[in-house]
Amino acid sequence: MNPQKKLHDWYLLHKRDLPFRKKKQAYPIWISEVMLQQTRVAAMLPLFENFLNRFPNPEELAKASEEEVLAHWKGLGYYSRARNIRKAAIQLVNLYNGSFPKDLELVLKLPGIGNYTARAVLSIAYDLPYAVLDGNVKRVLARYVGYTKNILGPKADLELQEKANEFLNLDFPGDHNQAMMELGATICLPESPKCLVCPLMEGCFARIHGKTKDLPIREKSQKQISLQGEIWIVQKDDVYLLIKEPKNRFLKGMFHLPYGFLGELPNNEYQPSDFFHFLGSLKGKSQTLGTIKHTITHHKLEYSVPHLKLNHTRDLESFLKTSGIDFKWVNLDSLETEFPSSLAKKVKKILLY
Ligand code: SF4
Repeated sequence: MNPQKKLHDWYLLHKRDLPFRKKKQAYPIWISEVMLQQTRVAAMLPLFENFLNRFPNPEELAKASEEEVLAHWKGLGYYSRARNIRKAAIQLVNLYNGSFPKDLELVLKLPGIGNYTARAVLSIAYDLPYAVLDGNVKRVLARYVGYTKNILGPKADLELQEKANEFLNLDFPGDHNQAMMELGATICLPESPKCLVCPLMEGCFARIHGKTKDLPIREKSQKQISLQGEIWIVQKDDVYLLIKEPKNRFLKGMFHLPYGFLGELPNNEYQPSDFFHFLGSLKGKSQTLGTIKHTITHHKLEYSVPHLKLNHTRDLESFLKTSGIDFKWVNLDSLETEFPSSLAKKVKKILLY
């Protein structure tokens, strides 16, 4: 029996009963794949169900405001993905009557949809012959075919994509892709792979050569960037200021507490805004409540939290208006809905402490 057939038989016996894959429908498969890129299945399922209840199809998602979509993304992080999902839904409705096109190149043109997601949706929903490559598949392939180079970086992506294409089961591309991901998640684990129960054990390079501990090779080149800054709580009566500042490096396009970075900054993209300097001029009137730590991709951020209570906000609001910065005042109960990031939770905790 060829290895693809063994893998398929294994998958049919062991596949998990996942609600988003029961029906071969592109929309829920797409949403679930994007959510799963950042969250484990168990944590993602209730959020997925909640999201699908509110936005059951691309039409409903396309009609919704960005704020509402972000609020339903709470708990998943990486909010640019939620913004892109909404933009892509708008294009699906406007260009393709709300359906996913069955062409890889067209799907790749949709906002926020990369190679992995496009291939996963097209193969799982439509059984089109596109092999996926995610972290789990890379590990399985690197061990199985004996890929002895670094698996990180664009060159490795190209080479491993070719290996994945060659290994694809053309009779069942959707099942095959899910089987590879499932094998990586449950059998070919990063530490201590369970080779004895693996359907690919017979032809596996790493198992045969005793190299399961050495493969895959992962050499990171990206450096961690540490930044120090301030995230401000600006209070008027019992409401708090949120702004939407398009030039900021993080939290783009969403309402957030004003923040900025200080000290020696690695490059221009982290420069504090004029409004942050404006707040700095009011520092003497504020009280620092403490510090919080936050990580975004390869950035380690440490913010001190000044709390500024204002009786009059005319100057501040006129500064925001003339700077073209959107703003709103929200009460403490709705802070986390209006600013749907774990940062809001951390700041609220420090404020209430
Ligand atoms: S035999 Fe072992 S190392 Fe090879 S694919 Fe299976 S679990 Fe991974």
